Amino acid sequence: MSDQDTKLDYGTMEAGDFKDFAKAMTDYIAEYLENIRDRQVVPSVKPGYLRPLVPEQAPEKAEPWTAVMADIERVVMSGVTHWHSPRFHAYFPTANSYPSIVADMLSGAIACIGFTWIASPACTELEVVMLDWLGQMLGLPDSFLARSGGEAGGVIQGTASEATLVALLGAKSRTMTRVKEEHPEWTETEILSKLVGYCNKQAHSSVERAGLLGGVKLRSLQPDGKRRLRGETLQEAMEEDIRNGLIPFYVVATLGTTSSCAFDALDEIGDVCNNKDVWLHVDAAYAGSSFICPEYRYLMKGVEKASSFNFNPHKWLLVNFDCSALWLKEPRWIIDAFNVDPLYLKHDMQGSAPDYRHWQIPLGRRFRALKLWFVLRLYGVENLQKFIRKQIALAHLFERLCSADERFEIYEEVTMGLVCFRLKGDNDKNEELLRRINGRGKIHLVPSKIDDTYFLRLAICSRFSEESDIHVSWDEVKASADDVLKGQ
Ligand SMILES: *Cc1c(COP(=O)(O)O)cnc(C)c1O
Repeated sequence: MSDQDTKLDYGTMEAGDFKDFAKAMTDYIAEYLENIRDRQVVPSVKPGYLRPLVPEQAPEKAEPWTAVMADIERVVMSGVTHWHSPRFHAYFPTANSYPSIVADMLSGAIACIGFTWIASPACTELEVVMLDWLGQMLGLPDSFLARSGGEAGGVIQGTASEATLVALLGAKSRTMTRVKEEHPEWTETEILSKLVGYCNKQAHSSVERAGLLGGVKLRSLQPDGKRRLRGETLQEAMEEDIRNGLIPFYVVATLGTTSSCAFDALDEIGDVCNNKDVWLHVDAAYAGSSFICPEYRYLMKGVEKASSFNFNPHKWLLVNFDCSALWLKEPRWIIDAFNVDPLYLKHDMQGSAPDYRHWQIPLGRRFRALKLWFVLRLYGVENLQKFIRKQIALAHLFERLCSADERFEIYEEVTMGLVCFRLKGDNDKNEELLRRINGRGKIHLVPSKIDDTYFLRLAICSRFSEESDIHVSWDEVKASADDVLKGQ
């Protein structure tokens, strides 16, 4: 029998059809993104909207791709929240760019699982180099980079949450090793029960979660009046814990908190950590991208004192989700903590390049460095800097419009692309304001609350945002405020 006889007739997609489908999809994507502003930012569907729109079962016979294409608007887009619309101001941005979308196509084609060097050398090696490029763009000290020739280097994690957990596990194994040497009579369980980590009360919820997952105590500390965690507060907390027989082992400093984009006093915190031999992890998930512009690096002063540094190119650097960059000065603590070495994963080249499976929680990993490579080359550092500066300027434009209306107050100093604002007066009035704004359906915002003060957050999210869009958003806020104040 020939291949021809045994070849299954899938009746479906081969290269010719693939090219047509992919071309049609490319056209659709470009049209979708360029006209995204005209769509309703949050859909008005109700839970369960989708099931009646599709058959009860998977089709028995293959369908043509044109049938799938024809259903995208009806089934999918009718229920999509358009995160890349300039009318979307909720949460923080998530990145989107054409080079990144194309890179994901190639990653999908290669479809390797790069857990070891030999599993796909390019996947590992491009990642090592891209994290060096990116680290240099941010002005990270060489002590974090692979190009320094030591053990240090970067790795792409799926999310900042994973990076915080991975760093915590590294800190835990480093401290366990030290304490076991100092107190050989203590059991592992005894030591574990004494470990304590610290973060700002305003740190992201994923930090608390890392503590729970890692099985250790984490204390959230009170920030100062500008919502920054200070060295002195940390120092006092550690000394109190040490007096009580506990062992400080891990600190997360946040650069750009999720609620209000506040920056912890990294330089002060770094000194405290270094004096006490405590692992300092920096969570700069959102704001880290701004450090490609030298004028914002004052906000990461003291970064050389940290043990690990993380930010999300998938938030604000035009690399589509998922791409969270983590640099480690001493990856050995993580490699050793996670090291299991079954025969089927061993290879001859072990040790000469990173086997990234030891640097992360899952085994499998996609070829995500392609996204970084494409974006960094097709924009160039210069245009990425322009992008960051423009987004921050748009936030300041909204800030000015808001400050000029005496009914409003700015809740927190605007440093990045986030404006925290509220109507002067009580929380009820502001809750009503948000209901009206989102109820009108033209723009989308989420609130936050710090120390019982409720405020609204307007994040500049879309890379398509222009000044005229900010005026549209402000007009919506103003009109909603008119309604609220009239109603009262
Ligand atoms: C968004 C954010 C996170 C979580 O990011 P993921 O990549 O979704 O895990 C963590 N920390 C801060 C400060 C954030 O803004």
